[in-house]
Amino acid sequence: MITLKNFKQVEKMREAGHLLYDVMQKLRGAVKPGMTTAALDAYAEELIRRNHAEPSFLNYHGFPKSICASVDDKVVHGIPSDDEILQEGSILSVDCGLVLDGWQADSAFTVGIGDISPEKQKLIEVTQKCFFEGARQAVDGARVGDVGAAVQELAEKNGYGVIRSLTGHGIGRSMHEDPSVPNYGEKGRGVRLRSGMTMAIEPMIAMGDYNVVQLSDGWTVVTRDGSVCAHYEHTIAVTDGLPEILTLPDFDWASYVPASGGDD
Ligand code: MG
Ligand code: MG
Repeated sequence: MITLKNFKQVEKMREAGHLLYDVMQKLRGAVKPGMTTAALDAYAEELIRRNHAEPSFLNYHGFPKSICASVDDKVVHGIPSDDEILQEGSILSVDCGLVLDGWQADSAFTVGIGDISPEKQKLIEVTQKCFFEGARQAVDGARVGDVGAAVQELAEKNGYGVIRSLTGHGIGRSMHEDPSVPNYGEKGRGVRLRSGMTMAIEPMIAMGDYNVVQLSDGWTVVTRDGSVCAHYEHTIAVTDGLPEILTLPDFDWASYVPASGGDD
């Protein structure tokens, strides 16, 4: 069931989203070669609790940490560890969620560790662009397939694989609500979007093939062909105009430059 949020509820989600943005900015700034992913996780939990919020990933279906830390061929759900030391040249996706006053926010970014190859840098940038191309389709009256089609078109134009088996999702009082928001699809197909819907849009884009496998830890998802993968996610609210990106307070669609050829 899809739950529409009223003005006051979106306002609560905005507060949660803006707090998560602050947390993510600090995490991004903290990432450096030699750091363990467990240290980054501890910092995330401290930042969230310091601001009177709760880390929503911690104990979610038994997940043991407050962030997912996924290096290189790990797609998502990597478990932070004291044994995992960030190495120069790798890329790291950090996925984090929090709940503030009963309302959820969910966001992820991918960042290079020190100097990275131009190929990895391009993957990160295209994955971010895929998010924005998808998100700008999320307007009242559009279809969820419009979002996925836009993500897929830009990713595949760059020769990348769009992960199929993991998707974005509605979000609100629960981290995962209806509808499911795939990163592929057909324009004009799927659930109709309405003002007041709140969703996490989260392209997971691989340099190679889109097939994934889950590791024996029961969480970590890796690409089957070992290719490097990036992930970028924000929580958005569908409005009467272009969507509000709740986890990116300073963003303004007026200054957004669309991907060339990414639209009709
Ligand atoms: Mg997430
Ligand atoms: Mg999510």
